[in-house]
Amino acid sequence: MTSLDEILKEIKKAKDIVILTHENPDGDAMGSSLALYQALKKMDKDVELIVPKYSRVFTCLPKIENVKSEGTKKEYDLAIAVDTASIKQLNGWANYFEDAKYRIVIDHHSSNSMYGDLNYVDLSSPACAQVMYVLFRYYNWEITQEVGNCLMGGIITDTGGFQYAGVSKETFEIASTLISNGVNVSKLYKQLLSTNSRTSFELRKIALNRLEFLEDGKIAYTYITKKDEKKVKAETGDYEGLVNEGRNIEGVEVSIFLHEIDNGYRVSLRANEYVNVSDVCLMFGGGGHVRAAGVTMQGTPKQIKEKLVKEIKRQLK
Ligand code: AMP
Ligand code: MN
Ligand code: MN
Repeated sequence: MTSLDEILKEIKKAKDIVILTHENPDGDAMGSSLALYQALKKMDKDVELIVPKYSRVFTCLPKIENVKSEGTKKEYDLAIAVDTASIKQLNGWANYFEDAKYRIVIDHHSSNSMYGDLNYVDLSSPACAQVMYVLFRYYNWEITQEVGNCLMGGIITDTGGFQYAGVSKETFEIASTLISNGVNVSKLYKQLLSTNSRTSFELRKIALNRLEFLEDGKIAYTYITKKDEKKVKAETGDYEGLVNEGRNIEGVEVSIFLHEIDNGYRVSLRANEYVNVSDVCLMFGGGGHVRAAGVTMQGTPKQIKEKLVKEIKRQLK
């Protein structure tokens, strides 16, 4: 029996199911979990999708109105975590996962710690939504237009609009099928990727003004503090994508972006060609993908920058 058969067996057995995803959810986290939510709902499961806080950008995704910020039960028959590399990333909502009678992980992170009873992790997938598509196909679950929009939303955000490494023939084949099912890529692209809110634009200006080049221009570094966010009246997720500004500059191999949170800074690292930023983040207790990873660190921006640069330097050519 493949793990996909086993997953379906567990889903069939369960009455109440909770779906969870990582903190600071991106389009892939939201799209993959919303697609799964719709399939389980159709199977008449008592299903809850718990996402404590998400960006206003995602309100364009179908069924988002069903997302709950807290669960109604203490113990679910089954918990499914999507697009999440480790239990730590479920943050304060890890209890719903830990307390469930059975636990499944569906993901695509190379640093996935296999923290479920069953783990379906495809490292070759550029988005968890692509992994989710494989499930839909294997189980013969109907890919409605609404499910299609969620899956496509996940794929286009995690691939930066089909541009990152990992995008394959299969990704385009899936996109092609989703378009046949009524998905409007241009509309989703505009809503999820190219539109900036005024406040995120103001934050971008601050981050760009502060951007520094280090190590002969191979590293770009910038940050955003709580004070900056207050100044521009930033909303949840407004800093999303800022790490790409540095990455897209000629000669830069690694882009570092820090974002202040309650207990330190959320670090985002992106690499272009050869630095393994997942390894760099693993050194400090985080993880992610080879060319896109994250971690939470304590200290001042300058201290964190110095620690990171010291590690990154080892890999620079
Ligand atoms: P971000 O920079 O927050 O967009 O994260 C980049 C990638 O690394 C995403 O796929 C995250 O899910 C993953 N990631 C971020 N933080 C961590 C962490 N602490 N542990 C494992 N993976 C992480
Ligand atoms: Mn994600
Ligand atoms: Mn993802």
